Parts: sequence; C-alpha cells; structure tokens
Amino acid sequence: MKVTVINPHGFCAGVQRALDLAYKAKSEHPNRSIYILGNLVHNEHVIDDLKADGFVILDERKKSLSDWIDTLNKGDIIVFSAHGHDPHLDEKAAKKGLIKYDATCPFVIANSVLIKKRITEGGETIFIGQAGHAETVGTLMMDESKVFLFEPGKPFDFGQLTVKNPLLVSQTTMGTDEMAESISLLKEHFPMIDIAARVCDATDRRQKAICTAPSDIDLYVVMGSETSNNTKKLLLLAKEKYPNAKTIRCLDVEEIKRSDIKGLKNAALISGASTAMKEFDEVKSYLESL
Ligand code: SF4
Repeated sequence: MKVTVINPHGFCAGVQRALDLAYKAKSEHPNRSIYILGNLVHNEHVIDDLKADGFVILDERKKSLSDWIDTLNKGDIIVFSAHGHDPHLDEKAAKKGLIKYDATCPFVIANSVLIKKRITEGGETIFIGQAGHAETVGTLMMDESKVFLFEPGKPFDFGQLTVKNPLLVSQTTMGTDEMAESISLLKEHFPMIDIAARVCDATDRRQKAICTAPSDIDLYVVMGSETSNNTKKLLLLAKEKYPNAKTIRCLDVEEIKRSDIKGLKNAALISGASTAMKEFDEVKSYLESL
C-alpha cells in the first residue's frame, strides 16, 4: 500500500511540554512518587508508558480529582494535566502543601486569562465546548454563574445571560467548521458579542492539513485515542471531505490490523496531537507492508 504522511503529526508542542514537565518532576525528585492528576494527555499508550516509568496516575474515572487530592500528603508531588483543570484544585493543592508541576497548555492558559479578566470586570462568557472535557470543566468552574457552556448542536438557554456583549471563547480542540457555525448562531442573538474564540495552532494546522490532503486516496487513517477531541474532529473532517474513501481512527497497529482495509491501495496517515511517533511509525510500516 502506498502511504502519504500528512503533516503535522505526532505530539503537539503542548503535549510534549506536559511530558517534559512530568519527567522534569521525576528527575528533580528521583526517589519520590510522582502523582499525575487525571490523564496527563489523552492517549492510552502514553499513560501506560508513564506508569511503566513509575509515575502514579490518579485516574479520574475511579475518583474525582478533588477526592484524589484529599488522599495525598503534605510535600507530595503532583503534576496537573495539559488540558486545564478546576482552579479550586490549585487552592486545595496549595492548602495541603503539595509540590505542584502544572502542565496546563499555554493555549488553555491564554483562554483562562481572558475569562478571568472578564469575570473581574463583572462580565459574562460563553464557552463553546464539549461537556465533561477537562478543559470545559476547568473553564466552567472558574465561575459557574458567569461562564456558560454552549455545546454545538445542543439547545442553549440564551436567557441565562444578563449582558448584551458576552465574551466568546472556545475549547482549544474544537472543529473549526462547527465553531464557525456556533459563532454565527451566537452572533444572531448577541450582535455585540466579543469574539475571542479560536482553536489552538496544533488543532488548526492539522484540520487544515486533512482538508487539503491529496484526493486520490482511498483510505484516510487518523491516529489517536477515542478520548482525544482533536483526533475525533480530524476524523469527522476526513469523513465529510472524502465521502467516497474509507476513513478510520486507530490507536495503534493492533487496532488497524483488526480493520477491514482489504483491497485499498492509497492511504493517507495523520495523527491527533497526543500520538507518539513510535505508534505512528508502526502503523505506517504496517500499511506499507500490505
Ligand atoms: S492540542 Fe492544542 S491545546 Fe491541546 S495540548 Fe496541544 S497545543 Fe495545547
């Protein structure tokens, strides 16, 4: 099979930074347990590698992040994930005397700075995002009475806002198409809306790249976890843009081996922002061997 690699792929700068920070914590405290609060990045292999290297993952599916912090002791070392978190957890960690390494991506931080300023000024914010995602949870928890979630395609209660010129911010890993639709809908209701919504560079560049991929392809493979929002958006874009081609998401070579891709000859390969080059190269080699 011929394989065209679409750039960029592999880790984005934010994910690489989060991993570097976790290993920095480990090298600065070589004989201590390093606790990672939730999924540092959205990829099962990356999390498994961290566990194999001795990191302790505090799994948010088993206990809330706040409850996990309660289990730690003064002086314990904790790493906050790349996607952002409820700011109350910072206060809680500080009160407990934990040593904190914050891997929150600078794109997520930039949004929270804008929202914090708007809250301080007495204003309100609409956040376009996906319910339950770590970035959304962290953003809404900044002030639940001043920050409102708008989920694309879902009903929104415009009456809950009291201002005419809310700030508009979005999750950094949104699909640019659905964001544009959301913005135009919100503008109809709030002509004076203050638009600061944008996806991060990694998401933007990958979404543009998949949309401008060669069109003589019969198989588009998007690598990444089911839990990765930017991966899911890449897959959606590929499905919309190339309806006659087969489009699949896979985490690793084992997963693609289980896919029905018999008879296909021309593949394009891209990844979401949390896929390591090791898994990417394995899938590429496997496809080329077919
Ligand atoms: S996908 Fe974007 S927001 Fe998320 S870590 Fe990477 S650069 Fe940061």
